Amino acid sequence: MFDEIQQAGVGQTPPFLTASSIHKSYGGVHALKGVSLTLRAGEVHGLVGANGAGKSTLIKVLAGLVQPDSGEVRIDGKRQSLVTPHHASALGMNFIHQELAFIPGMTVLENIMLGLPKKSRFGVVDWKGIARDVAPIAERVGITAPLHANVKGLPAAENWLINICRALVRKARLIVMDEPTAALSATESEKLFTIIEDLSQSGVTVLYVSHRLDEILRLCHGVTVFRDGSSVATIDKADLNRERLIEEIVGGAVEHLVHEKRIIERDEVALTVSHLSRAPRVKDVSLTLHRGEVLGIGGLVGAGRSELAHLIYGADRPDAGTMTFDGKVFSPRSPVQAVKAGLGLVPEERRADGLVLHKSVGFNLQLANFRELVASPIIPFVKSRKRQPTAQQIIQDLAIKSHSIEMPVGRLSGGNQQKVVIGRWLLRMPKVLILDEPTRGVDIGARGEIHRLIRALAEKGMAVIVISSEPDELPDLCDRIVVMCEGRIVRELVGAEITRNAIVEASYA
Ligand code: ATP
Repeated sequence: MFDEIQQAGVGQTPPFLTASSIHKSYGGVHALKGVSLTLRAGEVHGLVGANGAGKSTLIKVLAGLVQPDSGEVRIDGKRQSLVTPHHASALGMNFIHQELAFIPGMTVLENIMLGLPKKSRFGVVDWKGIARDVAPIAERVGITAPLHANVKGLPAAENWLINICRALVRKARLIVMDEPTAALSATESEKLFTIIEDLSQSGVTVLYVSHRLDEILRLCHGVTVFRDGSSVATIDKADLNRERLIEEIVGGAVEHLVHEKRIIERDEVALTVSHLSRAPRVKDVSLTLHRGEVLGIGGLVGAGRSELAHLIYGADRPDAGTMTFDGKVFSPRSPVQAVKAGLGLVPEERRADGLVLHKSVGFNLQLANFRELVASPIIPFVKSRKRQPTAQQIIQDLAIKSHSIEMPVGRLSGGNQQKVVIGRWLLRMPKVLILDEPTRGVDIGARGEIHRLIRALAEKGMAVIVISSEPDELPDLCDRIVVMCEGRIVRELVGAEITRNAIVEASYA
C-alpha cells in the first residue's frame, strides 16, 4: 500500500471515501446545504470553515450518529448507509474528538481495547497476550506510559496517542481528528505531526479538522472549505496558501488588527498580585495590572497560567501571597466573591464551564448579570424583551451563528458556544477581566472581532489579562506581556520588546 501511494502520489490514488450533496436540517435550520468531500487513501485532508459552517455535522454523518436528509456516502466506490457508529467503525472509520472518550480508573490497555473483542485463555481475558499484540502499535505512535498504567492524570498529548493507538488496533483506514492540538504544547504538537505523517505514509487517511491554518498548510495534501453549510472549495496542496484559505473561509478578505502599543498610565492600578504561590503549579508570582491595560500572559501549556487565573478568581486558595483589588486587600474565598468585587474570568474549558445548554442564547449571555441581580441561586424568569438589545448586539458583534436569540445554546456549534461565554463577560463590563485562551476553537473572522472588542473595552478603562499559548496572538493584542515558565514569571516584555520570538524564547527559559 505504502509503495503504491509513493509511486502514484496521493492525488492519483482512488478515493477511499466520497460524500456527495449531503443535506441536513434541524427543524428548518439548515446545518448542511449540500456538501461534498473526497478523501483518498493515505491523504491528510484538511476540513476548515467558520464556526457553525457544518464541519461537526458532516463528521457526525460519517460516524453514523446523524442521519442526513439526502445525499450519499461511498466507501471504496460502494454506497453505504451509515446508520450506526458500529457500522462506521466496521468500515474502518475512527473519530477522535476534543473531549476524548476515556474511562478513568481503567488502564491504558483497557482503554485502547474498549469495545473490542478480546482474546481469552481458558475463558479468562488474556491481558498478557493482548499487551504483547498492542505493544508494537503503542510504541509506533509513541505512547510513553506503561500499558498497565491508569489513564487518570495522563497529559492530554498522551491521551491523543492512546486514541490513535486505539484506532490502529481497530485497523482504521480513516482517522478523523477534531482540533487535535487544542490542548497540546508546541513540542507535543510536533510529535503528533510526525505521527500523522507516518500514518499517511502507511496508507491511513487522516481528516484534519482545525481552525489553525498554519497546521493545515503544513500537514495537508488537500483541503475542503465549508461555508454556511456548503462546501465552497477543494484546494490541492500546490495551490494552498493562507490568504486563499482565509478568503474561502470568510468569503472575502479579513482585516488585520494593528494597534498602537500604548503607554499605560501607571498610577491607576487595578490589581496587584504579590508573591502568590500554590503548589505545585504557581510559584512566587507578582504582577501589577493597570486600568485600561491589556496584559498578556504567555508561556507553554502547563506553565501555571490557568492556575494563577484560578487563584485570582477565588476558585482556588493560595498557599502564600497577597492581592489587592482597586486599592483594597483582596482575598476572594469563591468566584462569587470575586465577581461581586468586579472580576470576570472566561475560563479555558468553556464548554464545561457555565453554559446552561438547554437554555437560550439570550439567557446564557445574560447569566452573569442575573447572578448579580439576585441573591437566590434560582434564576427568575426575565422577559426576553428586556434582555434583547445588548445580547443582540453581542450576537451581531461576535457573529454568533444562532437561528434566533431564543435558540438553546446546546444546539450551537462548539465555537459559537465559546463565543457566548466570552460575549457574556463583554456584556457585563467587570473592572478586571481575565480571558484564558479566548480564541481557541474560534474561527479566524471572530478571532479578529474578539481582539477588537478586548481593545475597545480596555480603552473604556477595563483592565484585561489575556492568557494565550499561541505566541502570534499576544503581540497583536497586548500592551505588555509577562511570560510564565514552570510556575514563575520569567520575563516581562514592553513596547518594542514584544515580539513572537521573545515570547517563544522566554517560554523555554
Ligand atoms: P465549530 O467550528 O464551531 O465547531 P462546525 O462547523 O462544526 O462549527 P456544526 O456544529 O456542524 O458547525 O453546526 C452547523 C450548524 O448546525 C450550526 O448553525 C448549528 O447551530 C446547527 N446545529 C447543529 N446541531 C444542531 C441541533 N441539534 N439543532 C439545531 N441546530 C443545530
